Amino acid sequence: MEAFVSTLWATLKTFQLKDAVDILLISLIIFYALRLFRETRAGQLVKGVVVLLIAYALSAIFDLTMINYILRSIFEFSVIIFVVVFQPELRQALEKLGRNKTLKNILSSPMSAPTASVTKAISDVADACAVLSSSKTGALIVFERDSNLTDVARTGTELNADTSVALLGNLFFNKAPLHDGACIIRGGKMLAAGCILPLTAQIDISDNLGTRHRAAIGMSEESDAVVVVVSEETGIISVALNGNLLRGFDRSTLNDKLGELILSDADKNQNLFTILFKSRKEKKDET
Ligand code: ATP
Ligand code: MG
Repeated sequence: MEAFVSTLWATLKTFQLKDAVDILLISLIIFYALRLFRETRAGQLVKGVVVLLIAYALSAIFDLTMINYILRSIFEFSVIIFVVVFQPELRQALEKLGRNKTLKNILSSPMSAPTASVTKAISDVADACAVLSSSKTGALIVFERDSNLTDVARTGTELNADTSVALLGNLFFNKAPLHDGACIIRGGKMLAAGCILPLTAQIDISDNLGTRHRAAIGMSEESDAVVVVVSEETGIISVALNGNLLRGFDRSTLNDKLGELILSDADKNQNLFTILFKSRKEKKDET
């Protein structure tokens, strides 16, 4: 007992600030991991792992060599298995981390798309959606923001075209080859059309929303993109954002909403580089 107390004391004496930080960080990681587990399919998986552990213990007790060996091998590869099984969750978590505003402002490059072309793209999309809505032509338009959508764009046909109301109308005209799927807009340019978006897995979505709306919601869950949908059945214009669907836009409300969501990013060109550059310039001006 005395020995235990003295070793404990000896250990405590070496305790430094960095150890406190270490403990704090580990606690945070465990907290977020547990929260991620609760929000995902991980619950069932934990039950499966418990069953395997019980089987492992039993195989050891009853000396079932082969089963014991197989189970031990599974546990040895558990890190790789964990990464494979949780690939979507890990990917989502890392993407969320990457989209973090503070990190983004520090790391982003100062060369974002010129505001003028983005403003024009927004106004063209709003005009085109108004026309498509009145003719009840289905449309799906994705505005890329921080999450890179190159993978999604690859599922369609590359365009690299300036936006125009006529071109958008042409794209979604229901006898045109590229009308199926989504058009992706990056930095005010139409990057690709006919792209396949990920469908949402949400189950409590209204029955009268079909795959087009589910694809819009899915895309907005997996990225920070802003997705505009025009319904072929009702002509209703909706915007999907962060897994939610906002409905019932018209030309002007759509234009305002898109401006608010997309331009604020392009305008806030306040990253580390510009801040450094500005402060240096200001100092120079003072002297
Ligand atoms: P609407 O109100 O326009 O009928 P909806 O939500 O009911 O829309 P559907 O009627 O199922 O959806 O629309 C089918 C169309 O949605 C397809 O023809 C295709 O253009 C588009 N679409 C379906 N799934 C995807 C997807 N994963 N990615 C991109 N576009 C898709
Ligand atoms: Mg439909």
